[in-house]
Amino acid sequence: MNHHTIPALELAFRHARLYLEGLDEQAVDATVSVDSLRARFLEVMPEDGLGAESVVEELVRNVGGGLTASAGGRCFGWVLGSSLPAALAADWLTSTWDQAPGVQAVSPAGSVVEEVCGRWLLSLLGLPASASFALVTGCQMAHVTALAAARNALLRRQGWDVEEQGLVGAPPMRVVSGRRHGTVERAVRLLGLGRACLVDIPLSADEELSPEHLDAALARSRDVPAVVLLQAGDVNTGHFDDFGPLIDVARHYDAWVHVDGAFGLWAAASPTQRHLTVGVDRADSWATDGHKWLNVPYDCGYAFVRDSSAHFRALSHRAAYLEQSGTGRDAVDWGPEHSRRARGFSTYAALRALGRTGIAELVDTCCRHSRNFLEGAARLPGVELVSAPCINQGLLRFPDPRPGATEAHHDAHTAAVIRAVNASGEALFTSTDWYGRRCMRVSVSSFRTTDGDIARALEALTKAVTETPSGTEA
Ligand SMILES: *Cc1c(COP(=O)(O)O)cnc(C)c1O
Repeated sequence: MNHHTIPALELAFRHARLYLEGLDEQAVDATVSVDSLRARFLEVMPEDGLGAESVVEELVRNVGGGLTASAGGRCFGWVLGSSLPAALAADWLTSTWDQAPGVQAVSPAGSVVEEVCGRWLLSLLGLPASASFALVTGCQMAHVTALAAARNALLRRQGWDVEEQGLVGAPPMRVVSGRRHGTVERAVRLLGLGRACLVDIPLSADEELSPEHLDAALARSRDVPAVVLLQAGDVNTGHFDDFGPLIDVARHYDAWVHVDGAFGLWAAASPTQRHLTVGVDRADSWATDGHKWLNVPYDCGYAFVRDSSAHFRALSHRAAYLEQSGTGRDAVDWGPEHSRRARGFSTYAALRALGRTGIAELVDTCCRHSRNFLEGAARLPGVELVSAPCINQGLLRFPDPRPGATEAHHDAHTAAVIRAVNASGEALFTSTDWYGRRCMRVSVSSFRTTDGDIARALEALTKAVTETPSGTEA
């Protein structure tokens, strides 16, 4: 076996440089099908190994055309975000240092940096300084972590120790919400609460979660303890729940308020967007991402919990051989994982590189680009603005211009326009189903996006709207 690391790293650096330098010219959507990618990679586990440099060369060659340019400035699908230079560099070092920061003894520096990240993030996002926190893989596991703490606290009040007794025979609990992201559903499944614990609150005519409706839902089964799930930034529209009045109602029923703020919670870091998050600090737990709007590489989310004792009871882990500190903070006690990447370094680097003003500027710039794109698109003939810009998100629809066209035709035409833009390679958008209507989602979450990128994307959209024939099949 070849143990020489440096040549492989130098090669990787050369390829990384080429990739970043070519990002702007690369087609944003992948250009190679999944089937041809499969054909490129060996199908059977190889008998003999390959030198590190050859592996790097082969990997780079084989992924060619199969990467979306989500690291660039014109990927507006899903909610992605890029990687800030400092965060990407720190991420490389994280892999090089190979630290497992679960207990202080394994990585004193990795542990301390995570403590710093937790404190800085609480301050930046305007959350209680005394809240506990965990650095997790993403918002999905932030939900699991926070809701595990909620489950512990709510059942404990019923005289039930869920960590000891489990859920068999436990008192019921429920999770009530208006709209919610799919990861919340999976979190309750993982926690053994099951889908049946989810209670949908009907929205009011203006599509808001109203305090009256929340009150009615909580009053309906008063003695079943409840988590109230609120949203800071809906994944489709960017919409925020009205935290103050909703949390007042939740408090009246002793409910636990959990906030899904995967990207939207970052509005709290911007003086111009902060008004949307007023009152959010009064919740009991919060989940957000680093790998979306903070622009750190993937594998980075954060959970925050007001009741640190409930958090600790739900997640803590003890094993004699770990040599836990007993006094300091061991990350293994606060998150769902045991050994894991020292993901604090890249968060630290991002926060240190931007500072409060830089983060506010990142948020504001993405919001401005999103608004410019959506408003520019809405001025085009054949484009319907379905959901007005809210922070960095919005929805568009492309109705089939033929007289007598049905909603199904509009759906098919919308999908065809999105395909055409993506096929141009100039920008990448994804779609969603919004009240039964197909729409194009617009999400601007990358620090790399410039005015020029927005102009290029608008040009590509104009061309797609003009040139897509009506009546194309979905
Ligand atoms: C992306 C997202 C999630 C899930 O976050 P991951 O980091 O992908 O686990 C949850 N909620 C909302 C609103 C999101 O946008």
